[in-house]
Amino acid sequence: MARPTSGRAILGIGPEAPPPSGEPDPELKKAILAQVDALTFRLRVNLWSLLWRWRVFPWREFIDRLKVSEFRSYANRGEARKSLGWAGLTKDKDRWLFGVLGYRIPLFGNSAMRHELFHATQDLMAGLFGRQPWLPRNVLAEISAHLWGGPLMATAVFTVILALGVAAYYLCDFILTFIF
Ligand SMILES: [Zn+2]
Repeated sequence: MARPTSGRAILGIGPEAPPPSGEPDPELKKAILAQVDALTFRLRVNLWSLLWRWRVFPWREFIDRLKVSEFRSYANRGEARKSLGWAGLTKDKDRWLFGVLGYRIPLFGNSAMRHELFHATQDLMAGLFGRQPWLPRNVLAEISAHLWGGPLMATAVFTVILALGVAAYYLCDFILTFIF
């Protein structure tokens, strides 16, 4: 199905990511609602909301919508691998739908859940999920969600890129010692 008119996946820029179509997951719901109470998440969203729209973030409305949202697991491995984390609208487009692979993993799980939660704050403030796909907006939405929502994921990605760069440098250096 088309994306991201219907939602945002974890790196929401690349190939199509399917929404989670498995069973409802009440544990995921509990875990995500617990993230909303985390002081560090609230502080970041409050600051973002003020800086971006000069508005106090509507927490009451946000929590009320989360409470009636759908939280699902992925139906199979292929779906999970393509999506990792997903936030968007249900088929009827009347509620939010969330799926987060590995949300139980310490630290990583929190970061992944906050990332998807942050997309929901973007939807509440700017109707993100209902908009037509547009690359610059997608990229901005992702950067913003990584920065404000769950910085761990971005840190992990950058660390891998940096490590690869360092490894490439030493490999070249090693090879060059044989040439010169
Ligand atoms: Zn995302």
